[in-house]
Amino acid sequence: MTLTETAVDNVVQVTDLVKMYDELRAVDGISFSVKRGETFGLLGPNGAGKTTTMRMMAGLSPATSGSIFVAGLDVGRSGRDVRNEIGVVTQHDGLDNSLVVHRNLELHGYLAGLSYRDAIQRTKEVLGFFNLEGRANASIHALSGGMKRRLAIARAMMSSPQLLVMDEPTTGLDPQSRNRVWEQLGALKEAGVTIIMSTHYMIEAETLCDRLAIMDHGNILDIGEPGEVVQHHVGAEVAVLNLSENVTREERAVLRRRLDEEKRNYSEVGPRVLVTAPRDTKPDVSTLVGLAKMRVTYRPAHLEDVFLVLTGKELRDE
Ligand code: ATP
Repeated sequence: MTLTETAVDNVVQVTDLVKMYDELRAVDGISFSVKRGETFGLLGPNGAGKTTTMRMMAGLSPATSGSIFVAGLDVGRSGRDVRNEIGVVTQHDGLDNSLVVHRNLELHGYLAGLSYRDAIQRTKEVLGFFNLEGRANASIHALSGGMKRRLAIARAMMSSPQLLVMDEPTTGLDPQSRNRVWEQLGALKEAGVTIIMSTHYMIEAETLCDRLAIMDHGNILDIGEPGEVVQHHVGAEVAVLNLSENVTREERAVLRRRLDEEKRNYSEVGPRVLVTAPRDTKPDVSTLVGLAKMRVTYRPAHLEDVFLVLTGKELRDE
């Protein structure tokens, strides 16, 4: 077992990580660390490299170069020792439909190296923690999508890992089930588990993540607390220019030209133009209002706006 100095504070240390798929640099030399007990988010548009990063972290795919240490162990070299420190929840729950709920957990624990007795004991604990005791003997087919997701997370916790890696843990769930998963992830955090998760949901990132990395094209564009990242890139408030239905192409062109001349940060989303001002609390749009028929409103800035500014793309809609 190799222990590094970073193991004391950082459960995860990723350095210059690269993944090539032939000519494609799916992950392009990223570095970040995650502290013990932190929930860390990976956000990025489709194809940004989030899943590839997490697969390498989970030891499911070899890195082309760079290193990943989890709990002081080199993921590229430490085999089972490190795998037991990492619970993995992939986008597909991967539950065994031929086994009832408690057998799914016991088998996973047994394969992770627990004795049969310990696997049974641990199954009772995780079923209790995830409020699934009443479903212990249920068939997987009988579970709702939300329950399956909770069971997949419960299964990942069978080896009592220090780190839980989850790829889009609530994608496809209805809002109520999503809330239950969030509660459960909050409880895991309270219990001291370090979590890395990818998400397309801005509210999920803002609710759960202590810090997050915004990725695009295999690179990390920024890392920080959600509020910090928002303030840094888009300020406190966004001005929304709601263009009237009968605005002409010429008016739009004039407006766009002025926005460019004034070196404004702006994004066009259908009939709305969003104007942000990272260094100010509120963008002053007085020089723009006469250029086209519009109604100006202000709203608090959020991560979605950061996305538009950094990547030119929107996160997937709810
Ligand atoms: P999503 O949000 O859609 O899950 P992502 O950020 O997780 O996207 P990845 O799945 O990591 O992105 O993909 C990063 C890039 O690597 C994409 O261009 C993808 O097409 C490519 N890629 C991923 N897996 C493979 C593979 N096995 N072989 C070749 N290319 C791959």
